Amino acid sequence: MNKISVIGTGYVGLVTGACLSDFGLNVLCMDNDVEKIKKLERGIIPIYEPGLDAVVERNVANCRLAFTTDIKRAVEESDVIFIAVGTPPLEDGSADLKFVEAVARDIGRYMNGYKVVVDKSTVPVGTGQRVKQWVREELLKRGADYEFDVVSNPEFLREGSAVYDFTHPDRVVIGAESERALERMKQVYRVLYLNETPFIETNIETAEMIKYASNAFLAMKITFINEIANLCEKVGADVQDVARGMGRDGRIGPKFLHPGPGYGGSCFPKDTLALVKIGREYGAPITLIEQTVKANEAQKRLMVAKIMEGLGSLVGKQIAVLGLAFKPNTDDMRESPALVILNELANRGARFRVYDPKAMEEAKWRLANLKDRITYCQNEYEAIADCDALVILTEWNQFRSLDLARVKLLLKEPYFFDLRNIYKREQMERAGFYYFGVGQGKNKEWTEGQCQAAAVKE
Ligand code: NAD
Repeated sequence: MNKISVIGTGYVGLVTGACLSDFGLNVLCMDNDVEKIKKLERGIIPIYEPGLDAVVERNVANCRLAFTTDIKRAVEESDVIFIAVGTPPLEDGSADLKFVEAVARDIGRYMNGYKVVVDKSTVPVGTGQRVKQWVREELLKRGADYEFDVVSNPEFLREGSAVYDFTHPDRVVIGAESERALERMKQVYRVLYLNETPFIETNIETAEMIKYASNAFLAMKITFINEIANLCEKVGADVQDVARGMGRDGRIGPKFLHPGPGYGGSCFPKDTLALVKIGREYGAPITLIEQTVKANEAQKRLMVAKIMEGLGSLVGKQIAVLGLAFKPNTDDMRESPALVILNELANRGARFRVYDPKAMEEAKWRLANLKDRITYCQNEYEAIADCDALVILTEWNQFRSLDLARVKLLLKEPYFFDLRNIYKREQMERAGFYYFGVGQGKNKEWTEGQCQAAAVKE
């Protein structure tokens, strides 16, 4: 049976390692972050990902999953080595491959027999060939001549439902150059293969492109509905009904048609930038994605304008912020729209009382520059107390059923900015709020007391 190593034990690496061990394989997860590995050895999961703790726990108990900081051991003891390190953006938008290179070189340094080196990190087209080169260079330095194959096996899991996504993927993409490597990958994913998950077998470059094209397309779909939402506000249409009407068209589909404050997270922002860079480099610009990147930046700022439109001057205003993570069910704040929006509002004089069910620790260092302006609260109602307005930035389920009467009592002024459209305008206006959604018809120009008067009439 194949022994697996996963190098890089972050969101993708830990989920990959844990789920493969749950498929019955022996997996060693390696990371050079000593603290992270120490935590894992003590049974502490360093990230919030629903269901992951149980998968890790049962496979550690069954001795199928272990952790190490020893790269030599991880390479020597495995038949298949997954690279799952980060590929963050460089200043010019291109993907920084220094972590991938470091791992590839380590693999070459410690290789002791045939290995399949699997690139699971999201990397620019052509990286598979570079990985091959880096491994080969290190083997040459040692005068060693082991055979190996490089495979591209991009990951499509979503944070927040990563365990489910890994174990129930829409497809498994395998870019390989030899039958031997392909067969080994099919053994690794045997459980999914037996479950009739579609396998897309391609060359390495195609597999690498599938990942960027998929993420860029989804980012574009979100941006499209955001721009439609902005237009809906001008013409008096309701974007949620528009999305429903569009989504019923089988050629379009209902997913990723939820307008909001712009996409964020660890993938879409960096992958769109990287694809733009690759397109430019090869003289085949992906202009739709260039525009997507710009429109997404503008969307975050438009949310700031929306809040200012409602509140006027922000000097001396205190704003309750519910949700900081880039989406619900994760503690990840990488590229979260909250970062731009809070900074922009703070620049205009606002102070904040904030609450997120999981991202508070991460927020404390990511928003350290605003520490004098932010009060971190224990729950949503504590955050709302005594504020001039409420802004919902992440659609955590618990924010979907707020006690509206209590919210209204707690707020100094009933300004409600629902940047995730989790409430309906009519419902909120009936409840006496000055309500601002995204694309839910024309925003009213409220005058003092109008909303309350409307609520009383109801
Ligand atoms: P992450 O930052 O959470 O994890 C990366 C890990 O690699 C870190 O723990 C880091 O310490 C470790 N690392 C870095 N250099 C190392 C080295 N030389 N040796 C051992 N460990 C090393 O990143 P992530 O979110 O898991 O993303 C990893 C890759 O997967 C990226 O390319 C990303 O684009 C891609 N991806 C991410 C997601 C997602 O939802 N997060 C989904 C699909 C694909």
